[in-house]
Amino acid sequence: MNCDFVLTICPFCGCGCNVYLQVLDGEIAGVIPCKTDEISEGRLCVKGRNAHRFIQHQDRLKTPLIKQNGQFRPASWQEALEAIGQKLTQIKRDFGPDAIAFISSAKCTNEENFALMKFARAVIGTNNIDHCARLCHASTMVGLMSAFGSGAMTNSTTEIEGADCIFVIGSNTSEQHPMVASRILKAKDNGAKLIVVDPRRIPLAHFADVYLQIEPGTDVCLLNGLMNIILAQGLVDEQFVSQRTEGFEDFKKKIEEYPPQRVQQVTGIPSEELERAARMYGEAERATIIYCMGVTQHTTGTDNVRSCANLALLTGNVGRESTGVNPLRGQNNVQGACDMGALPNVFPGYQAVDDPSMKAKFEKAWDTTLSSSPGLTLTEMFEAAYRGQIKALYIVGENPLLSEPNARHAQEALEKLDLLVVQDIFLSETAQLAHVVLPAASFAEKEGTFTATDRRVQRVRKAIDPLGDSKPDWAIISQLAQYIGGKGFDYASAEDIMEESATLTPIYSGISYQRLDSGEVLAWPCPTKGHPGTKFLHQETFTRGKGRLFAIDFREPAELPDEEFPLMLTTGRLMFHYHTGTMTRRIPSLESEVSTGFVELNPEDAQRFGVKPGERVTVKSRRGDIEIDVFITDRVAPGVVFIPFHFAECAANVLTSDELDPEAKIPELKVCAVNIQGKG
Ligand code: SF4
Repeated sequence: MNCDFVLTICPFCGCGCNVYLQVLDGEIAGVIPCKTDEISEGRLCVKGRNAHRFIQHQDRLKTPLIKQNGQFRPASWQEALEAIGQKLTQIKRDFGPDAIAFISSAKCTNEENFALMKFARAVIGTNNIDHCARLCHASTMVGLMSAFGSGAMTNSTTEIEGADCIFVIGSNTSEQHPMVASRILKAKDNGAKLIVVDPRRIPLAHFADVYLQIEPGTDVCLLNGLMNIILAQGLVDEQFVSQRTEGFEDFKKKIEEYPPQRVQQVTGIPSEELERAARMYGEAERATIIYCMGVTQHTTGTDNVRSCANLALLTGNVGRESTGVNPLRGQNNVQGACDMGALPNVFPGYQAVDDPSMKAKFEKAWDTTLSSSPGLTLTEMFEAAYRGQIKALYIVGENPLLSEPNARHAQEALEKLDLLVVQDIFLSETAQLAHVVLPAASFAEKEGTFTATDRRVQRVRKAIDPLGDSKPDWAIISQLAQYIGGKGFDYASAEDIMEESATLTPIYSGISYQRLDSGEVLAWPCPTKGHPGTKFLHQETFTRGKGRLFAIDFREPAELPDEEFPLMLTTGRLMFHYHTGTMTRRIPSLESEVSTGFVELNPEDAQRFGVKPGERVTVKSRRGDIEIDVFITDRVAPGVVFIPFHFAECAANVLTSDELDPEAKIPELKVCAVNIQGKG
C-alpha cells in the first residue's frame, strides 16, 4: 500500500490551520493535524477533523453539464467552453462588457481569484467582479481603510494570548473560529479580562468577565457609550491621540451625546455593566478588539467598524503587539480573494481602478485597455440582473441562492439571465439554475495559496489528481480566456500566476512558493524578497498616515419589529456547518450533529405565541416564509429570534432584508422583523 502525507490548509474557516491529508493508494483517507503549525498547535476543530470527507463524495461534479430543454446533459470541455465563449462574446458585442458580471470565490485560491479578476478586467473589459466578502466584511474594508488605511486584521492570531483585555463583539468565536477562541481562553488563563458583546448568549459568553446582551443593531450606541465613560474617567491615551490621530474634537463632541442613561435605553445594557466594561477595556495595557459579522452585516456596518476603530484609537490600542482591531474573516480565503482584487473598485493589493497610474500599470502588464469605472458590487449585480441590465453572470464556487438576502428575489434575478455559468465542485442550489456547469477541483486536488484571516499567506498542495474531468478553477479560467482570444493566460502552473501577482501587488511582492515551501511564515505586507512579513500593522505610522477618529451617530436598523412582525430575527452560523452547507452537509458525522435548521425562541415568546418545544412553526417576514422547528432557549432575549443560514430546506435568507449599508453595500443580514406561527 502506498501511503503519503501532504501538508496543506484546512478548507473551512479563516483561521488557516495546517493539516496533513493522508493519501492511501491515490485516495484521501484522512486528515491529521500538524503539530508544528503555530495556529492549530496540533489540534483541529470538528470541521477540520472531517475536512477530507467531502472530497471524494459521490455527488462531486466530474464532467461539464449543459442545460437542454430544462435538463442537464453531460458535455465535453470543448463543447462547454464553446457554449460559454460564444454567448459571452455575443453579449459583450450586443450589450457591452458591463452586461457581464463575475462572482469569485473566497473558497478558491489566491491564484484562482487573480485569474478570474484578470479575465473579467482584461478579457471581458468590465470591473463587475465581486465575491462573498460583500456579504460578510465589505464594511470592514471600507471602515478600517478609512480609519487606518488598511482593511485587514491589524494583529495576528498568535498575539491574542498576550492581550490583557479582549473585547469580543459580534463574533461567535468558539463556534466559527475555534482556534482564535482557544487563544482567547489561553489569554484568560494568563489573567486577561474578557468582555463579550452579543445579542445571543454564545458559548464564549460563559467565560466572560462582562457579558453585554445588546439589542441587535445597537452597536454604535453601545460603543459610543463605552467611549463616553472612557472620556469621562480620564482613560484616554492622550499622547497617542494627539500624536497619531486626527478628528478628535468633532469625535469628542459626538461622544458626549451618549451618556450611560441614553445608552442603557437604546441597548438594554444597565449603566453599571457599561461602566465595568469601559473601565476594563480603558485600563488595560494591551487591549484587543475581535469582531465578526455581528458587527459588519448591518445597514450601519461601516459605522460599527469605525466605532470599533475609534475605541482602539482613543485608548492607544493599535500598532502594538497583542492590541488592535481584528475582524475575523469567515471563509478560508476571503482575505486572499480581497487581496487579489476580486472586488469591483480595486486591482490586486487594493490599487484603485480609477487611479490613472494604477490603471496604466495594469494596462502595460496585460497589454490591453482597462475600464476605469468601478463595477457593480455583488448585491448590486442581483438588482441589475433583475432589471435586465446584467445579461450574463459567471459564478465560481459560491451559492448565492442560499447566501444572498431576500433569497427568492435573488432567484428571480438569476432566472432572468441569458447566461448563468456556475463553476463548482457540487451541483449547488445555484448551479441547478445554471445554463452551463463546469466541474472544479477541490482544495485537495490543486496547488495554490490561501491567505488566512491574519494576513498570513500559506501553501495549498495537491494530494490527489482532480476527480473525473474536473480541473482547478485557474486552469478552467485560463482555458476559457484562451478560447475567446484573451492574452496572457498561458500559465503552466498556479505558481506562474503567483509570480505575476507578486510583480503587480506590492503587499505580496516578496512572497513566493519557494519561500513558503521552505517553511517561512509570511503575513502581508511583504514588499521584498528579503522582507520577513508583518506580524502587526501600523507600528510607527498608520497606512494612511494618521489614524482617523470619526464622529458617528447611532442609526436604527432599517427594519424594526412592529405589530405585524413583532420579533427581531438575527441570523448566523453553527459549529458543525460551513456556509451554505454544500460541503459539510455531505459529511455524515457533521450532518448527524445538526441535520436541519431551527429557530431559537425565548421561553417568554414561546408562551406569548403559544409555541411548544420542538413544534414546527412558520416564520414569516415581508419577503417570504419558511417552515422550521422551534428550539426554546434563553440564549436569545425576549423579542429576538435566531436562525442559522446553512439549510436550504428552511433557508433563513428567504426572510432577511436586502437593505444595504450605503457605503459598503453590505446587506443587513443581522436584523429584520418577523412573526412566528405555530401549527396548533
Ligand atoms: Fe479548519 Fe477553522 Fe477548524 Fe482550523 S479552526 S480546523 S481552519 S475550520
